[in-house]
Amino acid sequence: MSDRLSIETAAGDAILLRSDRTTLAISVRPDGLLELKAPRSATTQSIQAKVKARLRWIVRQRVQFRDMQRDRIPLRYESGATHTYLGRQYRLKVSEAPKPAVRLKGAYIHIAGPSKREEQVKALLDGWLRERALAQFTARLEKWKQWCAARKLPAPTVRLLRMPKRWGSSHRNGRILLNPELVKAPALCVDYVIAHEICHFKHPQHDRAFFRLLSEVFPNWQKVKARLESSS
Ligand SMILES: [Zn+2]
Repeated sequence: MSDRLSIETAAGDAILLRSDRTTLAISVRPDGLLELKAPRSATTQSIQAKVKARLRWIVRQRVQFRDMQRDRIPLRYESGATHTYLGRQYRLKVSEAPKPAVRLKGAYIHIAGPSKREEQVKALLDGWLRERALAQFTARLEKWKQWCAARKLPAPTVRLLRMPKRWGSSHRNGRILLNPELVKAPALCVDYVIAHEICHFKHPQHDRAFFRLLSEVFPNWQKVKARLESSS
């Protein structure tokens, strides 16, 4: 017999099963859900600490499963296909119209264009996502302007740049480059990447001072970073 319940961890909500075992077993299911098998006597705190210590491994497992899945199902650009925007899933509704238009309505992204050819639908959706990315990133950067001014740092500005392996980079002149793909991640993850780049204005390296400042301006960043790495 084992009791089954949900527990909050640094890697998100996990399923916790308690049984007559002596050690904690951590596993990641193909859907990304974390499963913990713990001794009956283990305290919640000790379980959470062990999960936190294995966070990197958990993220790696999730990325592997996600990549396997991605290889199986390529993104489609037709009615009914699922696409992600700010961490939410939307279905495409493709229609023909002389004037191209993309708009978000409820759980759907409506795409209208001269034809329903997938290359064309993809071009329209990509263009719309870039526009949304710039608008979202710019709006989210707004709240940092005062913070920067108070510290005599240059006013931050944002530009989009596709980068194969990173979400962002920043320069001391206040320019932040963000990967447009980031707009597919949850809003909180966007805020985390911006906070990370802002902290580089003061500390260019990933040293202790950098992480001290990051924890100050964005508590819980580890959790959000893990979510970004496993959701994207
Ligand atoms: Zn960095």
